[in-house]
Amino acid sequence: MIAVESSLHDCLKKFFGFNKFKGQQEQIINSVLEGKDTFVIMPTGGGKSLCYQLPALMSEGTAIIVSPLIALMKNQVDALRSFGTKDQDGIAHFLNSSLNKTEITKVKSDISKGKTKLLYVAPESLTKEENIAFFKEIKISFFAIDEAHCISEWGHDFRPEYRRLRPIIEAIGTVPIIALTATATPKVQQDILKNLDMTAANVFKSSFNRGNLYYEVRPKVNVGKEITKFVKKNAGKSGIIYCLSRKKVEEIAQLLKVNGVKALPYHAGLEAKERAQTQDMFLMEDIDVIVATIAFGMGIDKPDVRFVIHHDIPKSLEGYYQETGRAGRDGGEGQCVTFYSYDDIVKLEKFMKGKPVAEQEVGKQLLLETVSFAETGSCRRKFLLHYFGEEFDEAKCTNMCDNCKNPKQKIEGKDDIALLIEAVIAVKEKFKAKDVINVLLGNSTSVAKTYKHTDLEIFGDGADDDKDEKHWNSVVRQALVGGLLTKDIENYGLLKVSKEGKKFLSKPTSVMITKDHDYEGTDADDDDDIIAGGGQRVGGADEVLYSMLKDLCKKIAKQHNLPPYVIFQETSLSEMAIQYPINMEEMTRITGVGTGKAQKYGKPFIDLITKYVNDNEIERPQDLVIKTVANKSANKVHIIQSIDRKLSLEDIASAKKLKLKDIITEIETIVSSGTKVNINYYIDDVVDEDKQDDIYEYFREAETDSIEDALKELGEDNYSEEEVRLMRIKFLSEFAN
Ligand code: ADP
Ligand code: MG
Ligand code: ZN
Repeated sequence: MIAVESSLHDCLKKFFGFNKFKGQQEQIINSVLEGKDTFVIMPTGGGKSLCYQLPALMSEGTAIIVSPLIALMKNQVDALRSFGTKDQDGIAHFLNSSLNKTEITKVKSDISKGKTKLLYVAPESLTKEENIAFFKEIKISFFAIDEAHCISEWGHDFRPEYRRLRPIIEAIGTVPIIALTATATPKVQQDILKNLDMTAANVFKSSFNRGNLYYEVRPKVNVGKEITKFVKKNAGKSGIIYCLSRKKVEEIAQLLKVNGVKALPYHAGLEAKERAQTQDMFLMEDIDVIVATIAFGMGIDKPDVRFVIHHDIPKSLEGYYQETGRAGRDGGEGQCVTFYSYDDIVKLEKFMKGKPVAEQEVGKQLLLETVSFAETGSCRRKFLLHYFGEEFDEAKCTNMCDNCKNPKQKIEGKDDIALLIEAVIAVKEKFKAKDVINVLLGNSTSVAKTYKHTDLEIFGDGADDDKDEKHWNSVVRQALVGGLLTKDIENYGLLKVSKEGKKFLSKPTSVMITKDHDYEGTDADDDDDIIAGGGQRVGGADEVLYSMLKDLCKKIAKQHNLPPYVIFQETSLSEMAIQYPINMEEMTRITGVGTGKAQKYGKPFIDLITKYVNDNEIERPQDLVIKTVANKSANKVHIIQSIDRKLSLEDIASAKKLKLKDIITEIETIVSSGTKVNINYYIDDVVDEDKQDDIYEYFREAETDSIEDALKELGEDNYSEEEVRLMRIKFLSEFAN
């Protein structure tokens, strides 16, 4: 057993350059290797591909990978080939409508010779008679069905051909199946299991928490300007901006272009060729930003998308989760910013008019959940995960959402909601929110006069200094979200009181309403030119070296006609800019760099780093030789990134199951190896300002940086060892580095 385990790890390192499995990868791979049907539910970026790639490489025969998109296949095959040596190029192939006869013959010959471990096929190619006949004759290790939610009509990307997979697989022969999806809804999951007839499968469901994504919802005011500012501030990073309409897509792309951003539009109205080209340019990093309708994304396996912006709120939380999920797949930074205005919800509701009632009901429900998410004052991560049936402790969000970072004030809304329901009843449930609010505020509008609302007892009862139209709108939305009121979409959005609403009225219970939200602001774009902001890069790493490595990576990628991250991922480059590897052996210790990759692409990087280290007389971190270095360096990168996100050192420590003292020691090593870190935010929190000055002054004058001496000089009664060490880190970072 141990032998098997160690060989799994060896293969992980050798092929993929990773030191440890992510999440449940190892268990999943074992399940596949044992020949069991396996069902994997794992969020985007969780590392699903490896769950079939690694066992495929280790098994006898060829694994057939069914995948829905041609662009996606080519990407994966390129990535796989980059792991091996040149003569191993037959190791992975794809079979789809883009290949000509000669290419198909080559693929089939490699398979027959046993060279090919993975074959990606499009579902429509799998169903072709001549292919079925061929597959019957070869040794197949297993079938992998990627993006398995395409099977379900309930999913967000239904593909009818996926429904025919099971009978075809059976016709080919009995081999195990592994199905993989990132869909969070149980209904789709059930559908997949049933349709693939694998209800007895081993099921591996991971948490849907994407810890590295930062969620934020902003009121939709001056969106164009806000988006441009954001993109400028994140210059050079890859990002996707989603808009609901093609017109907006064109508009925003244009706006970004005139502001000097490398951006292109992407929507179904463009020609297929142009779309494919845009997508390629994005992968190759010839452009930084894609402005798109939701038509874009599934085909994108780019691991280093650093932000996803929603110009308009999506129609459902599932959609929101999938789209934001395209950020930070590599585990690095991923900012998700959504611009929300309730007007957009009203627009979306209007689209549903005239649709079958059942569909309308579902659509309405999905929208309400979206509103509820957008307007919540609580942790967004907790809300989102709860929606997918997962409990989450918001303390673990570690300020990775706007509401945790800047908590919003909440007020008791019980009385206001009750008053609102009374008003809806008083106007006999025959008026829209706007008219009901006018009743509450005592506005004598023409409607109010015509229908004699002015005579109602309740008229003007909701007028109060701090209760304006905005306030009441937000109360209406709370009541809708809570199911106390319903809105009749077919009939101009008339408000009605639900059964729950009547129950609430007879016995009101506490409802907290978030203050300070302004979600009615209309989209008054004023598209002034925007001053360029500076773009800061991955923290902690040597920024100059990092950008040189990044350029080199792009250049080499161009030569091979591959996307840069296929050569090395950003996370690997940033680690190189921390560890300064100057020979092959050190290179293979970098996370994400396997032996094959190091040999194939490592040389020019090593040369560049060596020259850089010599030219700048850089002292490299010495701990590279120690055996446990892999984990250590992983820790380091993690710590540096966490500091970048301004996490408290306690949080960093607990995430790594370390003591605060150990984290401080790690930071000291980082600093003493020449990396600047800025922990001022933390110091300001824990060390008194006067004390800070005293300790800092001490180190300025002192002849040694010994902590012991410092404590002796400053007085151990007044200053703790921790305080002194923290200040020394600050001092060394600012002066020595
Ligand atoms: P998914 O298909 O689940 O969205 P991918 O298979 O595309 O995810 O993997 C997402 C990212 O995680 C990729 O950049 C991949 O290189 C990385 N990754 C996968 N497994 C590991 C691992 N064991 N250690 C480190 N990184 C990993
Ligand atoms: Mg995938
Ligand atoms: Zn949160």
